[in-house]
Amino acid sequence: MKFSAKNDSIQCSIKNCVHHAGTVDYCTLDTIQIGTHEMNPTKKECTDCESFVNKAQ
Ligand code: SF4
Repeated sequence: MKFSAKNDSIQCSIKNCVHHAGTVDYCTLDTIQIGTHEMNPTKKECTDCESFVNKAQ
């Protein structure tokens, strides 16, 4: 398991991501990139964390 320090400014519950803090719901990166897969994003489901990396890969 990874024990990097969490970033108190970025809360995240995506435990499948390699950047997740593990025991607490925070990201360990200094900064993250947020984007969209939509041409015209209108709701939160349209947004993506583009810094996500699948733990399984
Ligand atoms: S990179 Fe994105 S998805 Fe991964 S832990 Fe950080 S905020 Fe969550």
